[in-house]
Amino acid sequence: MLKIENLNFSYPDGTQALKDVDVDIPPEHTFAILGQSGSGKTTLLNCLARFLTPQKGAIWLNGQNIQTLSGAEFRSKVGVVFQQLNLFPHMSILDNLTLAPRTVQLRDRRDCKASAMGMLERLGIADLANSYPAQISGGQAQRAAIARGLMLQPEYMLLDEPTSALDAKTSDEFADWLRELRDDTSFIVVTHDLRFARRAAKHGIAMRQGRVTCSGTLDELICDIEQ
Ligand code: ADP
Ligand code: MG
Repeated sequence: MLKIENLNFSYPDGTQALKDVDVDIPPEHTFAILGQSGSGKTTLLNCLARFLTPQKGAIWLNGQNIQTLSGAEFRSKVGVVFQQLNLFPHMSILDNLTLAPRTVQLRDRRDCKASAMGMLERLGIADLANSYPAQISGGQAQRAAIARGLMLQPEYMLLDEPTSALDAKTSDEFADWLRELRDDTSFIVVTHDLRFARRAAKHGIAMRQGRVTCSGTLDELICDIEQ
């Protein structure tokens, strides 16, 4: 369970991007953080990823304050896939997947290759193994970046605007893929794309001007947002 308690964050220029944010995020398959541009979603995600340190409040992972965890411990529990994906362009998708297990977990090269192939197969993208990032589509790259993140088997994986570079059809396919994905990791998806969120997630929160304005099922959130 991830618990966000009374979180407040201001940027150095004084912009208060998060105001008294309280949310419980259960280990559910996919949880959506919705809101218009500028509502504080990315700031919240960056606090969850420990890239930003809130001035007030705390984030608890299974009862532990995330600020007290070591870097390695935290990274093994919470993964992030950025908007720009950051797949290494000079490496095949398979090598992109084996890099962290080899260098962070110091696992054997052959063993890593086998588990990376297993991961790509499980996610239905084994055909991408030997392709390079520049050779695959946006939707495929999104899946490959998630596969890479899942190699470390985090409890939570944070996705920021995963459909921003995808057209409507690819975005629908990606939502269906994410929903059907068989994995123990809980995804937290930040998005302003209501159609995608509704297709991929059951529950979430809506944000407006740095505050959580609604929490519940996607239908409840969408009513709140469309008011
Ligand atoms: P969202 O992801 O929902 O679009 P953000 O978290 O990026 O929202 O932004 C929330 C607020 O913080 C906005 O008012 C935005 O202009 C401001 N903001 C974001 N990044 C910075 C920054 N680096 N410095 C100052 N203000 C920022
Ligand atoms: Mg954003």
